[in-house]
Amino acid sequence: MRAFAIGLAVVVMAMGSGAAAKPRWALVVHGGSGVIERKDLTPEQDTAYRASIGKAAQAGAAVLAKGGAALDAIEAAIHLLEDDPLFNAGRGAVFTADGRNELDSSIMDGKTLAAGAVAGVTRTRHPISLARAVMEHSPHVMLTGPGADAFSRTQELEQVDPSFFFTERRWKGLERDLTRMGLPIPPRPAGAPTAPQALSHLVHDEGRKHGTVGVVAMDTRGDVAAGASTGGTTAKRWGRVGDSPIIGAGTYASNRSCAVSGTGAGEYFIRLTVAREICALVQHKGMTLQAAADQVVQKELTALGGEGGVIAVAPDGQMAWSYNTSGMYRARMAEGVPLLVGIYKDEP
Ligand code: ASP
Repeated sequence: MRAFAIGLAVVVMAMGSGAAAKPRWALVVHGGSGVIERKDLTPEQDTAYRASIGKAAQAGAAVLAKGGAALDAIEAAIHLLEDDPLFNAGRGAVFTADGRNELDSSIMDGKTLAAGAVAGVTRTRHPISLARAVMEHSPHVMLTGPGADAFSRTQELEQVDPSFFFTERRWKGLERDLTRMGLPIPPRPAGAPTAPQALSHLVHDEGRKHGTVGVVAMDTRGDVAAGASTGGTTAKRWGRVGDSPIIGAGTYASNRSCAVSGTGAGEYFIRLTVAREICALVQHKGMTLQAAADQVVQKELTALGGEGGVIAVAPDGQMAWSYNTSGMYRARMAEGVPLLVGIYKDEP
């Protein structure tokens, strides 16, 4: 009887200690990291970014709240961001040095460790759906270039003319970076609108920001997943591919640890296998998600000279973000936890 009373007291104390109940679902979104300071954005741009990232988080959360799968929540949220010209994914992607949009994307299912990725695709409106099709309808994990475009056509995914992805703002960013690099400026892509006269209000330091999008989610079954979509880096050359479509570098998900999506200088994320490294620290060292994300981003990435950030979620509902840049477009939401949107470092 005495043992029972003590046991009961321990349980009551544990419950009363403020340990929050595990949310049934959770989701974190990023829209890129980089030099993003208050002075860089007009009040209108600040509001527009917050609205877009918040809307994407809510779209994903709506899927999860109805009992939908983490993979479906990720796809729904990323579709909005790919169509939104504010972000470097789908429409609004940055240009290669020869004036093309070459899109990269990946997705990973933490329950099965199934994964799909594409690099250098040029005609698929929603590269995240193509990455998912690679995962679900091909025997492969990663497809690139014309082959990936050809596979996309077999999947009945929406095809668009490459000019669909064109935005004046990113074109100006390309012109500025090429000028800085001493490289020739290619002709405007076929189908792009003719050059407007004045555009300075659209250009605000484009090349110094990233803008890749990523989403991680935990669904009501406790399954986690991660997805990313990007145009890569402005003025990239020679078929350059960053971390975003590399499983383990920019994207990773496992129900045994966590789901991570990164954004930043891909060359560093690849060498540190950032996403997998965070999950490994959680799995093998028993670190909290936030501690593991901070260890890799604030210590390892910073020590290597890389800039960027990550978002992460764990099967027990932990959510985390960590970045070593001055800002990251970000949002998080979970069952019973209201939407939190941030851009700058001085925000929670
Ligand atoms: N990580 C992306 C890449 O290197 C860029 C970004 O996050 O904006 O392609």
